[in-house]
Amino acid sequence: MSTTTYPDQELARKNAGATVPAYAAQGAKDQLAPFSITRRQPGAHDVQIEILYCGVCHSDLHTARNEWTNTTYPAVPGHEIVGKVTKVGKDVKKFKEGDYAAVGCMVDSDRTCPQCKDNLENYCDNVILTYNSPDSHLGGMTYGGYSKQIVVDEHFVLRVPDTKNLPGVAPLLCAGITTYSPLRYWKIQKGQKVGIVGLGGLGHMGLKLAHAMGAKVTLFTTSPGKTEDAKRLGADEVVISKDPAAMEKQNGTFDFILDTVSANHDMNALLNLLKRDGSLVLVGAPEKPMDIAAFSLIPKRRHFSGSMIGGIEETQEMLDFCAKHGITSDVEIIPIQKVNEAYERLLKSDVKYRFVIDMASLK
Ligand code: NAP
Ligand code: ZN
Repeated sequence: MSTTTYPDQELARKNAGATVPAYAAQGAKDQLAPFSITRRQPGAHDVQIEILYCGVCHSDLHTARNEWTNTTYPAVPGHEIVGKVTKVGKDVKKFKEGDYAAVGCMVDSDRTCPQCKDNLENYCDNVILTYNSPDSHLGGMTYGGYSKQIVVDEHFVLRVPDTKNLPGVAPLLCAGITTYSPLRYWKIQKGQKVGIVGLGGLGHMGLKLAHAMGAKVTLFTTSPGKTEDAKRLGADEVVISKDPAAMEKQNGTFDFILDTVSANHDMNALLNLLKRDGSLVLVGAPEKPMDIAAFSLIPKRRHFSGSMIGGIEETQEMLDFCAKHGITSDVEIIPIQKVNEAYERLLKSDVKYRFVIDMASLK
């Protein structure tokens, strides 16, 4: 099994904690394979977590294959983490050994900028993501949740309010908050007409959450076979986005659309669905730029914007909201040895509706 090497070996030696098994990509064209990483020794504010489950987000695939051209290898993906606290630093207040805990897409930020002061660490210029960000403790880059253990400052660790279905909670840490945050920011209310585009990990959470907020929800999908599931997950209506006549019939009728599609697609057909002053928020992050026609926006004063995950306070609010409404993710549990196969299935939109790795399979 290959092992990580750190650029500043003295720093790494000073702060090194446990060496643990993980899965890493060594290059854009490589399969993920067993790898060994070092975590830091927990500091005064740190929580050490034994990872039990980790969701497989399409962002993990984009990163492992360098589709956003910013990956540093080796890359250990995974940012939908649920586990058990095994050790806490002396100043930790929120957690004790034995608690369940969760970690999402971020593990640190500068905590002083206007974004951090507004509890929007996700928009901090110096945010440290759970993987593929500079790691100030050990040097090198941060390594994500496809591993046995992680050490995180308690500010970035979430409480798990309902522990009955831990694999179903893991995807809330990215797919859940990424869809919850824009629905809240744009103040989605009872009776509004909301479209969710794409029924994958994010999309299925978007359906559940928008439905729980009282919206009238339509799924736009390229997969006719997902219609029944969509209705079970909270859609009032399903439209096949490859059918131009079915799309046109809906033009000018939507208050809000959340676009979760991972590949390049026709944005203008979606913008045309919005009514006057309606908003389309893009959370899907395709590899290449997409064309927007001026006249998809101008005539109806439409809004087009993006959204990235959510702040820590809002992530806890989302977990509490999901516990209150009995919402978890629909998952297919896999051993880590099947993660490359899971990536291929993601590319075929063949996921119902989130792969979650059972970390007991990682020895
Ligand atoms: P996923 O599970 O693979 O789902 C993506 C869905 O998009 C597919 O199931 C499919 O739904 C649809 N789709 C795929 N290819 C398409 C195409 N060519 N044309 C139209 N629709 C297509 O992915 P995910 O994990 O939900 O992530 C979705 C995207 O969000 C990724 O790009 C990911 O990186 C990004 N993301 C962003 C944030 C953020 O903070 N903004 C956070 C997490 C993830 P149908 O079969 O229903 O058509
Ligand atoms: Zn994600």
